[in-house]
Amino acid sequence: MQWLIKSGILLVVAGLAAFFYKDAGHALPISQQMDTYMILLGMFLIVLYFGIYIAFIISGQTWKRSHQNRCVRCGKKIPKGEIYCEFHRMEVQTEYLMGLSDRHRPEKE
Ligand SMILES: [Zn+2]
Repeated sequence: MQWLIKSGILLVVAGLAAFFYKDAGHALPISQQMDTYMILLGMFLIVLYFGIYIAFIISGQTWKRSHQNRCVRCGKKIPKGEIYCEFHRMEVQTEYLMGLSDRHRPEKE
């Protein structure tokens, strides 16, 4: 992808050089509007590069949101549909079972 921005900048720079070359009273090869074409094409490549770059960032974020889960306790990567990592799932289950046994323990003792 780097070639897009590089050739874009190169074209703009070369176009500007051609513009000043023409401005100094020289005739441009191919076309008298060559400097304008080069600058426009260069700008187009730069805009295209940023467009693709932004699209990549946006799609990357949506991909992360829909396909990547993290343990709510330690932030470790876990499979889709899970809330805790293996370790914390065990810990939560133990806490839950202990909570249950606490609740069912007779209060009069
Ligand atoms: Zn965890």
